[in-house]
Amino acid sequence: MAAFKTLDQVDVAGRRVLVRLDLNVPMKDGRVTDATRIERAAPTVRELAGKGAKVIVASHYGRPKGRRDPEMSLSPLVDPLSAAVGRKVAFAADCVGPDAEAVVDGLADGGVALLENLRFHAGEEANDPEFADALAALCDLYVDDAFSASHRAHASIDGVARRRPAYAGRLMQAELEALSRALESPARPVAAVVGGAKVSTKLELLGNLVEKVDILAIGGGMANTFLHAQGVEIGRSLAERDLADTARAILAKAESRGCEILLALDAVVADTLAAGVATAVVGVDAVPADRMILDVGPATVAAMAERLAACRTLVWNGPLGAFETAPFDAGTTALARAAAELTDQGRLLTVAGGGDTVAALAHAGVLERFSYVSTAGGAFLEWLEGKELPGVAVLRA
Ligand code: ADP
Ligand code: MG
Repeated sequence: MAAFKTLDQVDVAGRRVLVRLDLNVPMKDGRVTDATRIERAAPTVRELAGKGAKVIVASHYGRPKGRRDPEMSLSPLVDPLSAAVGRKVAFAADCVGPDAEAVVDGLADGGVALLENLRFHAGEEANDPEFADALAALCDLYVDDAFSASHRAHASIDGVARRRPAYAGRLMQAELEALSRALESPARPVAAVVGGAKVSTKLELLGNLVEKVDILAIGGGMANTFLHAQGVEIGRSLAERDLADTARAILAKAESRGCEILLALDAVVADTLAAGVATAVVGVDAVPADRMILDVGPATVAAMAERLAACRTLVWNGPLGAFETAPFDAGTTALARAAAELTDQGRLLTVAGGGDTVAALAHAGVLERFSYVSTAGGAFLEWLEGKELPGVAVLRA
């Protein structure tokens, strides 16, 4: 990942700065129920306002598909955003055009305005040049602090960034720095732990990782497909048996690239995926035909943890078992705690992401102990697939 431009490289005093945030906070009955995303975004806005910029905050919310849907208005965010940035935020009832221009014209240096939902205009998702022109007309400079939206070449991510000098905000900067230390220029050896339900959703990710990491540990439902491809009896386990050839191709690619693959040695099996069912730990060569694998076993966790102890960098996506249902959370929790311990000791840089992965790491109580946990979802996964993210490409120095 080439270097990108940050707020350290620009004088923003007196300038109109459009800041793209991801303000998709949970709301109920027109009230914000969890302001975490607003609070995380606040430092960049505070910094810009503190330096005397006129700050214009833009975000999408939900999927209004180009129509003005009052349920998806950003107006309920004005008060929480004002509280988070420590000044009264003005609201523009439209994100472009006369309403937006009037609000921006009224901003003093250090003032902050919030624009209405970008996706009320179809031009946003279409990256329409006229819509991008209209957004660019509001500002002198552009700052992107929405890594989670950077895999989409929308007008507020791509179009406007091509029309104005563009910089990474502090959240974007932190994310890019963490990701770069994890895969672009990692301290080696570097390991990846990949789990989750299906191989089919993570083919590109696995293909990219075997090229970049030294050790790849595979768990979760997707590991069953690999075991099956190697001729192991997996009983009634979740697996994509039709992807056996694909799994073998990934293993062959790993071998040719010198990437060591760690698969399960043992497994926790049960009749059904349900809380409180009888479980047993069996060797992977002894999975009963009428059972399903629902977690990695303790010998597997121990072997993976031992290999991690010799690594300096870890990238993690995907739980190792059906962690939502106890006791099938045990393998993921144990390996996550082992990784957190190594991180605490300063021996391992740990970067993780993925919707269910974040939930599993939170469940294990290690979110704060990992070096960096990305909440970016789809953008994080596309980055793991080795794709160039449009919103990152336009920030390159
Ligand atoms: P992420 O959202 O972090 O990218 P995925 O969506 O790929 O992760 O996978 C998470 C899902 O995989 C979880 O719902 C989990 O229950 C499921 N899973 C993991 N291991 C198994 C297994 N052995 N059998 C069935 N489901 C599993
Ligand atoms: Mg998921």
